[in-house]
Amino acid sequence: MMVEVLASLSQIHRVIDAESLALEAQLGVPICIPNCGKCCETVLAHRIEADFAISAMIGEGKFHEMVSRCEGWLLERHKVAQIYEGPPVGIVQTKIAEEWHELVHMPCIFLEGDKGCLIYGGRPLVCRAFGVTHAPGPTPDFCPRPLGVGENQRCRGYIDNQQLEQAVKALLAGLADKEWATSGWLPAIIYREACPDKYRALVADNKVASAKIIGVTADYGLLWQEQLETIWQRQREVVASVS
Ligand code: SF4
Ligand code: SF4
Repeated sequence: MMVEVLASLSQIHRVIDAESLALEAQLGVPICIPNCGKCCETVLAHRIEADFAISAMIGEGKFHEMVSRCEGWLLERHKVAQIYEGPPVGIVQTKIAEEWHELVHMPCIFLEGDKGCLIYGGRPLVCRAFGVTHAPGPTPDFCPRPLGVGENQRCRGYIDNQQLEQAVKALLAGLADKEWATSGWLPAIIYREACPDKYRALVADNKVASAKIIGVTADYGLLWQEQLETIWQRQREVVASVS
């Protein structure tokens, strides 16, 4: 079953990659500047995406490096995540929710010194969708890629592919185990999938900040323009599901 799910996810990746090429052809400019990395902040991903990244990195021989970085992120006492009260459940108290929102502004732990991505072949949907299925960034001047045909600083092109959106929703809705569709911070969710016993032990020993181990429902994926506009306009309430 998991093999089929990962194959379906891989097919969705291929569609996004094809859309990315189509958008580039339409705009006449590359949709990303190599070695920029400006948008590579800590991201959320679904559990099945963590499994995809694990599988991809085992294949590329980068599994141990990936997991080691995840463990380092979990254990580091980041200034923006100071509350250690175990995994929150339900509507998260304001202070932890504030810390949760701050974590997104931290550079992604997989960003390399040359601004490449350690887990590029296994990166989650949110990374693949950036600037493809939604405009690149919360403000018009966020992304430094050149303007393409028909674009101006206030209006950037993106692909509106309803079939792709439906395919992602159908994949998440059709999972046999609904927990596979939940999201978490990418380093936490990869570590949880790769080393479940060690993850549980770290959480039980209260070694990980509460804001880092919040699990959220599936619709937190930052993939679509409409969804992004809602999020950029107001900070959403954090409701923890599976930690
Ligand atoms: S900010 Fe734009 S150019 Fe820079 S990495 Fe992200 S998509 Fe590429
Ligand atoms: S996983 Fe890779 S592409 Fe995604 S934010 Fe991190 S460094 Fe960037």
